[in-house]
Amino acid sequence: MSKKLYTRIKWILTFIIIAFNFFGCNKSSLPIQKQTRFLMDTYVTIQIPGGLEQIQIIEKAFDRIEAIDHKFNILEQNNALYAFNNSHSPVQDKEILDLIQTAIKIGSQTDGAFDITIYPLMKHWGFFDKSPSLPENKDIHRLLMHVGLDKLLLTDNQLSKSDTLTQIDLGGIAKGYAIKGALEVIKEAGIQSALIDAGGDIYALGELYGKPWKVGIRNPRGEGIIGSFNISDLAVVTSGDYERFFEKDGVKYHHILDPKTGYPARGLASVSIIADNPVIADVLSTAIFVMGKDKGLAFLEKTKLAEALIVTEDNQRFSTSGLQ
Ligand code: ADP
Ligand code: MG
Repeated sequence: MSKKLYTRIKWILTFIIIAFNFFGCNKSSLPIQKQTRFLMDTYVTIQIPGGLEQIQIIEKAFDRIEAIDHKFNILEQNNALYAFNNSHSPVQDKEILDLIQTAIKIGSQTDGAFDITIYPLMKHWGFFDKSPSLPENKDIHRLLMHVGLDKLLLTDNQLSKSDTLTQIDLGGIAKGYAIKGALEVIKEAGIQSALIDAGGDIYALGELYGKPWKVGIRNPRGEGIIGSFNISDLAVVTSGDYERFFEKDGVKYHHILDPKTGYPARGLASVSIIADNPVIADVLSTAIFVMGKDKGLAFLEKTKLAEALIVTEDNQRFSTSGLQ
């Protein structure tokens, strides 16, 4: 199965988060312009209330996401990240350095739960291929030696590495950055209300006809949604064990790896993060998934970086105090 087809099927099967608005069916309300494109390995939908003139702005926002996709996609063979990973060339692009700085900062705040050097393991598990499979334990241990933020050397002007086998993977942050890029384009055009949905990772700008946007959270263990949030100027980003996985001998292996063990993080089914910055929301959804319920909730209560709704593997639900 091709990667695109795989992702398409994944998308259709999961409907990670269903975004909808209260007035979508209200015939008396103004129209909403809505366009969808396949970008960043997922379906991205942008909605802006208003007339047909909004479509041009939506197109511009898609163009921005496409440019980010080219620059930050580690699988693309002619960008700076590919050169860093495969021919050890230092990265000097300021935009990439800024995003990596954010990734490293949250990586160390979360005690390495979020670690962009996870790539050699992701690759070995085959999560970027059509058919991932269970690696041998000795290979996981061998590859873990090249994982760790201490292998990255970041200065104001460049990123280099002390270990030639260290490689980086921005899959846990790039989608949030793309949402942020699209949002900037939309705001620069003077738009005050929009919904950006990148495969269930959402940002709601302003309000829809005077009320917050309503965003549903997908049930990670069944059909439909487990709840919804009324949000305005906020991102809601979810990481789940149902997004990319395979099963062997009745055990589920998914694409969010614990950098300490090299195996999929255990304990949770999904983590939804609500934060004003979509980049932070994206990183934290993966980081809290790895940290687990107790450590993750304690971290968020202490740092106040975001609110979270957590569903455990056995389908129990927990949230930060700000959501209760
Ligand atoms: P998705 O992008 O599928 O919605 P996430 O936002 O949770 O899901 O990101 C998962 C991606 O992040 C993986 O596909 C991989 O590229 C990367 N990743 C996996 N584990 C980690 C980790 N512990 N730290 C940083 N990035 C990770
Ligand atoms: Mg994410």
